[in-house]
Order: sequence, then C-alpha cells, then structure tokens
Amino acid sequence: MRYLVLSDLHANRHALDAVLADAAAHSWDQSLVLGDLVGYGGDPNGVIARIRELAPAAIIRGNHDKVAAGIEPPTGFNPVAYAAIQWTAATLTPDHAAWLAALPRGPIIVDEDIEICHGTPYDEDVYLVGPGEARRAADAATRPLCLFGHTHLQMGFRMRDEQLSSLPDDGRRPLPIEAAVGRLLVNPGAVGQPRDRDPRAAYAIVDTDLRLVTLHRVAYPIDDAQRQILRAGLPPTLASRLAAGR
Ligand code: ZN
Repeated sequence: MRYLVLSDLHANRHALDAVLADAAAHSWDQSLVLGDLVGYGGDPNGVIARIRELAPAAIIRGNHDKVAAGIEPPTGFNPVAYAAIQWTAATLTPDHAAWLAALPRGPIIVDEDIEICHGTPYDEDVYLVGPGEARRAADAATRPLCLFGHTHLQMGFRMRDEQLSSLPDDGRRPLPIEAAVGRLLVNPGAVGQPRDRDPRAAYAIVDTDLRLVTLHRVAYPIDDAQRQILRAGLPPTLASRLAAGR
C-alpha cells in the first residue's frame, strides 16, 4: 500500500492542486490527512471539496478545523489567525461546516504500521518540535510509524533503543520504518503554509511494502494563492508569508 500523506492544507487550493499533480507521478493508493484543512488561506470550501473527493483512508481534525467548525473557542489564536478563522467560519458552506465538525480527534490507528495525529499522539494540540515532546510522543505511539503535523515543518525523529535522533533535513533520502527496534515520528510538512523557509508545498508518501517514507516538495503558483487571500479581505501578512515559507 502506498499512502499519500497531507497535513496543514490551510485552505490553500493552489498548493493542494500542485501536490496532487506531483503525487500522481508517484502512484499512490490511499490518502491520509492529518488535519488543519482550513484557516489562514482563501479557499476553505475548495480544499474541503477536494479532500472529500479523495475519500481519505484516515483523516483527523486540527486545531483550526475545531475552531472554524465551532467546536472550540479560539483560545491561543493570535489576532491574524483569529481574523482568518472568523472569516472561514462565515465562508464555509453549511454542508462543509458540518463535515468539518464531524472529523475525529487523533490519534487514529491506520494499520499495523501507521498511526496519525495532528500535534502528538498524547495531545492533539501540542507542538512536536523538540526532543522532550519527541520522547513523550515515541512513548505514547502504538505503531512503528507515527505521522504528525501542526508545526508546518517537514522533519521528524527516530527513537531506536531509547536513543533519540533528529531525522536529517538534507533532502529526500527515504526513511526506513523499523518496526522491531523503535519508533519513527514524521511530519510531512505543510501543504498550504510551510514554515521551514522553503515556500514549496510539502507532502510525504509512505510505502508499507517497501517500508519507506519519502518526503516531497513541489512549487506551486504562490501569487495565485496570495491574490485569493487578499481578495477575500484576509490579513495581508497571510499572503506575504507564503512567499517567505515562514
Ligand atoms: Zn496548521
């Protein structure tokens, strides 16, 4: 089985379309979606419609999805994120809003090798950035491969024999899933708002037969996504940050 892994799409349909076109060349069977379909970007309904068409094998909610769907108050949202989520909530069709509200909380077990979460397997809203969260996540994970999002950074950690190491950020070397000896924690990066200073849309493919995770980046028409944000009347910083990848 080959899974296409998408996270933090953030209503950026131009980025999502580029990812789907790029991923088609890698031939995948099923998709996994790690949450935050909306918020920040200018096309929440377009992104939700495309993801619903994909009919993911597993999908969970992110913090922006919860607030946009009215499940949680915007606690911790800065003024820019708050303005965007208010606009998103007002823009979603009733059908898409109801679908978003029904997304399950992570973690979710996908198969014997994979589980998915938005933040961490122990708390869906925690940012997994450093070794402290990584150790706790490796302990909480119940599958050899734990896929997470939320930070918008394409990176990860490997726990092997109680030794924690950061995954090399030197590019696209496939990461082996080693079921017997530990845990692999992988963030595919953000489709719709990368923050690792690489503005290209990010995604991953997991091949459970070859037992490999590959990380991918693809350029997309950023100026089109920016125009859509500005046309919607969203804060201009949400447009400018896309070009900076941060
Ligand atoms: Zn996000």
